[in-house]
Amino acid sequence: MSRVAIIGAGPSGLAQLHAFEQAGLAGADVPEVVCFEKQSDWGGLWNYTWRTGLDEHGDPVHGSMYRYLWSNGPKECLEFADYTFDEHFGGPIPSFPPREVLYDYITGRAKKSGVRQYIHFDTAVRWIAYDEARGTFEVTVESRADKSTRTEEFDWVIVGTGHFSTPNFPEYPGFSTFPGRVLHSHDFRDAGEFAGKDLLILGNSYSAEDIALQSLKYGAESVTISYRTSPMGFGWPEGVSEVPGLDRVEGRTAYFADGSTRDVDAIVLCTGYRHHFPFIEEALRLRTGNQLYPEKLYKGVVWTPNPKLMYLAMQDQYYTFSMFDAQAFYVRDVILGRIALPEPDAMQADIASWRARQDTLAGPMDDIDFQTDYLRDLMKPTDYPAFDLDLARQHFATWEHHKEESITGYRDRSFASPCTGTVAPLHHTPWWEELDDSLATFLGSGRVSGDVN
Ligand SMILES: Cc1cc2nc3c(=O)[nH]c(=O)nc-3n(C[C@H](O)[C@H](O)[C@H](O)COP(=O)(O)OP(=O)(O)OC[C@H]3O[C@@H](n4cnc5c(N)ncnc54)[C@H](O)[C@@H]3O)c2cc1C
Repeated sequence: MSRVAIIGAGPSGLAQLHAFEQAGLAGADVPEVVCFEKQSDWGGLWNYTWRTGLDEHGDPVHGSMYRYLWSNGPKECLEFADYTFDEHFGGPIPSFPPREVLYDYITGRAKKSGVRQYIHFDTAVRWIAYDEARGTFEVTVESRADKSTRTEEFDWVIVGTGHFSTPNFPEYPGFSTFPGRVLHSHDFRDAGEFAGKDLLILGNSYSAEDIALQSLKYGAESVTISYRTSPMGFGWPEGVSEVPGLDRVEGRTAYFADGSTRDVDAIVLCTGYRHHFPFIEEALRLRTGNQLYPEKLYKGVVWTPNPKLMYLAMQDQYYTFSMFDAQAFYVRDVILGRIALPEPDAMQADIASWRARQDTLAGPMDDIDFQTDYLRDLMKPTDYPAFDLDLARQHFATWEHHKEESITGYRDRSFASPCTGTVAPLHHTPWWEELDDSLATFLGSGRVSGDVN
C-alpha cells in the first residue's frame, strides 16, 4: 500500500484528509494517509492563540489571527459544497461571521468526516528529502513533547503549511530608537491594546485595512495608514487617514514622503508574509511571492520538478475553503490514478499560459475572474460537488462594491448561498457597533457550538 504524508492540519490539510475519506467511503482503494500537525490542535490559523514570538516548545508561533477577527469576505464565497453552513448550523446565519464561528464550521466538517484519527498532533515536520534510488520521500518528524525524532518513508507528500505565518519585516531609519512598540501584524492580538493611542500602520492590503478599523473600533485615538504604492482609498471613518510612504522616524515623530508628519505611539507593520519552508530540501522547495499562479505548480498544486510532491493553498486567496477543497480533490485523484498528469512540457505550457494571463490582470475584479476560472478548471475532472461559481464570482463583485460604499458597513450585508440558495439573515447588531465576537452572541442563542450534527 502506498503512503501519503500531509503536512499541516489547517483548512487545507483538513480538506485533503476529507477528500481521501470521501473516496474511501465511496469504496475506493485509498492509500495510507498520515497527517503531521505541529500544534496541539487542528484549524491552522483559525485555531486562535494569544501567544506571539515562540510557542510552548520554542518554535515560532504559527498563528497570525487576532481577537475580534471577523470574516472579511462573504462566507458564501468560501462555503464547502459538500458541507453547507445550513447543514452545520441547522439554519441560516449572517454572511460575515467572526473567527470562532468559522473555526466551528471548519472543524465541524472534520469531525463529521472522522479524520482526526489520521493526525499526529504536536508533531513537527523537520526535514523532507527525496531518495532518487528508492523513488520515495524521507520525512523526518519531531515529537515536540519529548523531542524524539524519527524518519518515515512516503510515496507522496502534500504540503499544507500555509503562507501567512512568517512575517516580512522592513526596517526604516529611526525604528531602533522609537520609544513605542513596533510590531508586525503577525504579532497583533488585541486591538484594545491601542485604546487612546495614536497608531501608525504600514501597508495597503487586507491586514492594514482591518487592523486600522479594529483599532479605531476598540478605542484608538487616531490611525494613520502609510502606503508605499497606492492608497486603499476607502471612505474611512473620522480618525483614520492615509498618507504616502514612510521616510523615517525621529523620536515618536513619523515623517512621510509628502513632507507631512505625525506623532505616534505605536507602529504596526502590515507588510505581508513570506512563503517559508525551512523543512524541505532545496530541490523540492517552492519559492514564490504571494501571487495567483506561482511558478512550477501545475494546476496550482503539483510540483512539476517532482510530481509526487504537492502544495496546497499557496496562492493569493480570494476563494479559500472551497478552493482548498477543489485542490484537495484534484490532488487526491492524481494520487488515486484517476487523473493522469501530462508530460512535463505540457505541464509547463499550461502553467505558462496561466502566468501569461496573470501578467495582464489589472485589478481586483480581474483577479477574481482569474481565480474563478482556475477553480472551474480544477473542479472539472473531479467529483467535487458542483456549486454556482458564477454566483460566487458575482458576490465578490458586489462585495467589492459594498466596500467602496461603506468600509465600516459592508459586513452588514447579506448574500445567497451558491450551494443551497439560502439567503443569509442580517446580523442582529451592525458590525461597527458589535464589540463582542463570541459565537454565542453571534448566533444569539447562548449556544457554545453551532454544530447540530
Ligand atoms: C490575519 C488573517 C486573516 C484571514 N482572514 C481570512 C478570512 O476572513 N477568510 C478566509 O477565508 N481566509 C482568511 N485568511 C486566509 C487563511 O490563509 C486561510 O483561511 C486558511 O487558514 C489557510 O489554510 P492552510 O491550511 O493553507 O494554512 P494555515 O491555516 O496556516 O494552517 C497550516 C497548518 O500547518 C501547520 N504546520 C506548519 N508548519 C508545520 C510543520 N513543519 N510541521 C507540521 N505542521 C506544520 C500549522 O501549525 C497549521 O496548523 C486570513 C489569514 C490571515 C493571516
